[in-house]
Amino acid sequence: MTTAPNESAAVFLDRDGTLMREVNYCADPKQVEIFPGVPEALRRLQAAGYKLIVISNQAGIGRGYFTEEQYRAVEAEVERAVLPANFDGVYFCPDRPDLATDRRKPAPGMVFEARRDHKIDLARSFFIGDKAIDIECGRNAGVRTILVKTGYGAGETRAAPDWIAEDLSAAVDIILNLNEASRGDSPAG
Ligand SMILES: [Mg+2]
Repeated sequence: MTTAPNESAAVFLDRDGTLMREVNYCADPKQVEIFPGVPEALRRLQAAGYKLIVISNQAGIGRGYFTEEQYRAVEAEVERAVLPANFDGVYFCPDRPDLATDRRKPAPGMVFEARRDHKIDLARSFFIGDKAIDIECGRNAGVRTILVKTGYGAGETRAAPDWIAEDLSAAVDIILNLNEASRGDSPAG
């Protein structure tokens, strides 16, 4: 496929249940528990030229369960815990489900913001998440989708992803194997 040379491929990542253990409305950095192998898997994506973009619904803010300041403290801990990997962007949506804008997953608003901010080629990009809303968000944005079985993923029967993986590391294997298969045709980066 043809793409503008200055555009990058990206992997969009759900946070809770995908990068870290699902805890209901995580409001405390002490609750952050990154899954084993996640920093290394993210580093492999970065080495292959993919930008890493977190796309997270945080309705706990809109519901008044925790403040944006508390959210920021959790975000900072997640960023510390995935080192030496680094996110190129972190997007979150504070909307309550009953007052959702086009930023709240499954709507693709945050993905489109990231595309604009980071010059991303969606046709070469992926969305990884543990819920049907992640898969729908990716589809709505026009990227390929992988459901992970961590978090809510093992019980998620409503999703129709392009692939299903045991965890983030296995999802990254899928992406890099595809990339390998098409090398010289549409490499990332
Ligand atoms: Mg999740």
